[in-house]
Amino acid sequence: DRVTKAYARPSLMPWGRPRSTPILHGISFALARGETLGIVGESGSGKSTLGRLALRLSTPTGGRILYDGQDINALTPAGLRAYRTKMQMIFQDPHNSLDPSLTVGMSIAEALDIHRSELGATERSERVGALLSQVGLSPTCATRRPHEFSGGQKQRIGIARALAVEPELIVADEAVSALDVSVQAHILNLMRDLRDALGLSYLFIAHDLAVVRRMSHRVAVLYRGRIVEMADRDDLFTRAQHPYTRMLLAAAPRRGTHHAPATEMPLAAPGPGGQGCPFHARCTLRQPHCAEVDPPSRTIAPGHEVACHLV
Ligand code: SF4
Ligand code: MG
Repeated sequence: DRVTKAYARPSLMPWGRPRSTPILHGISFALARGETLGIVGESGSGKSTLGRLALRLSTPTGGRILYDGQDINALTPAGLRAYRTKMQMIFQDPHNSLDPSLTVGMSIAEALDIHRSELGATERSERVGALLSQVGLSPTCATRRPHEFSGGQKQRIGIARALAVEPELIVADEAVSALDVSVQAHILNLMRDLRDALGLSYLFIAHDLAVVRRMSHRVAVLYRGRIVEMADRDDLFTRAQHPYTRMLLAAAPRRGTHHAPATEMPLAAPGPGGQGCPFHARCTLRQPHCAEVDPPSRTIAPGHEVACHLV
């Protein structure tokens, strides 16, 4: 079926200015239709850059990102427009993604106009109403403005707007981290139901392990621009092998004691980039050669890859 495959090698400089340390390095994974790959990591680990690359909002300096076998970095402007109708982003802050001067209906219709310009006025407002219903809101919300809605409702509107173009892939970057935990659960359930009903694929980026666990089929753990471990969800949460993954799991708040949105952990001061294990400065198990030799990613069980000299 349709597969997005991302290779980013040897280094990526997506902001268009030279950096001595690559933001992402040696990233390789595939995403299938209907699948959710969780991308978890600390602030600054490169998660958002990965999402931006998949949407071609940033361009890598090396490597390939294939969608349906086509390299998205080699698309013509027309090809890029067509590609953009297949993917959408859901942002952390729904307040910023909705224009406060437009009614909710106008915001959603704007997305429809770009991709379904053939629709007449009646069909268009019917489609807006249907999209609002699909995300659990009343079609009458179309005439109201964003400030009249709660954070969770605004995120539903953001999702309706994303669905307007009938995307195949959604990049959700911290889609629920600005919401209260009780509201998070509702939005995650909605996103899961939509995925299953519409066959959507998600790149689900979050720093909160509980949220990633709830949503993902597979999880990739990013540390300083590398995937240090990738596995099926249950393998990752019960049989994690990489010292960094284990540290994250040990630090994660337990279910039931988690009342506030988790804050991102600060990133350790960067060491010399691109050499040795990216985690060596913080690893309690490090060996003398860990700082010198880059640990290759090894498959230790079906679908379970780890990059650590000890594993
Ligand atoms: Fe720790 Fe070495 Fe493994 Fe890196 S390669 S995680 S420093 S033991
Ligand atoms: Mg980010």
